[in-house]
Amino acid sequence: MTLLDVKNLNKQYGTGTVALSNVNFSVKEGEFISIIGPSGAGKSTLLRCLNRMIEASSGEITFDGMKVLQLNKKELRNLRSKIGMIFQHYNLVNPLSVIENVLHGRLGYKSTMKGLLGIYSEEEKKGALEIIELLGLEEQIYKRCDQLSGGQKQRVGIARALIQKPKMLLCDEPIASLDPNASKIIMDYLRKVTNEMGITCLVNLHQVNVALTYSDRIIGVKQGKIVYDGLPQYVTKEI
Ligand code: ADP
Ligand code: ADP
Repeated sequence: MTLLDVKNLNKQYGTGTVALSNVNFSVKEGEFISIIGPSGAGKSTLLRCLNRMIEASSGEITFDGMKVLQLNKKELRNLRSKIGMIFQHYNLVNPLSVIENVLHGRLGYKSTMKGLLGIYSEEEKKGALEIIELLGLEEQIYKRCDQLSGGQKQRVGIARALIQKPKMLLCDEPIASLDPNASKIIMDYLRKVTNEMGITCLVNLHQVNVALTYSDRIIGVKQGKIVYDGLPQYVTKEI
């Protein structure tokens, strides 16, 4: 079943830079797709247009039956609860503990005060603990996030995204700040999220070998255009 459909997507920044030019692709539920291409190709812009972290200039995006570019504020909140996002620099609330960061994800941005005041139900805490265990972070639960390694921080980032029970994860260079060992652990977890939970993953990567190893499908982007869309085995080095 098609989960995401992108048609004629264009993005021009206020500076005049054309970051996306007539981008078309669709994604089936349960696919694990890597988006590869040189720095500045438009990969990050593409992911950010999908959940409207930035506004596309024109085009159509349909996600799970929703016309993404036409949603009102309330509908947009619903969309974002179904699309988790993972960042290169983790975007955690550093002085807070692992479990607080994970719970924060569940409550969303509006509930920062509730989060900072530590008001959570037992049920909310139980759900968070399950996901923390799934990501092997049991021993870090009460540690402040700024005391964690990069790989542990990214696992918290994944846990925080998963607690909302998303249908899709957008991962923007999730391993770009990690050493090869930690990178493998994170990629294994992301693949597990797709294989065992059925969550669709779109992953921006500049490490082509990693993309080839883990993905069902590769989308190659260059100068704002899709230059490859297909199986990993036919990717040529030039992308
Ligand atoms: P990638 O993720 O592939 O490195 P980006 O999507 O970050 O590419 O960038 C695509 C192009 O858009 C680049 O030329 C970049 O400099 C430009 N760009 C990205 N963000 C902005 C912005 N906020 N304002 C203006 N130009 C931007
Ligand atoms: P990261 O590696 O963390 O994605 P970047 O250097 O790509 O960081 O971008 C940092 C921020 O600057 C992003 O919000 C991006 O949108 C913005 N940005 C990137 N390129 C440009 C640009 N040419 N003009 C204005 N803003 C930009």
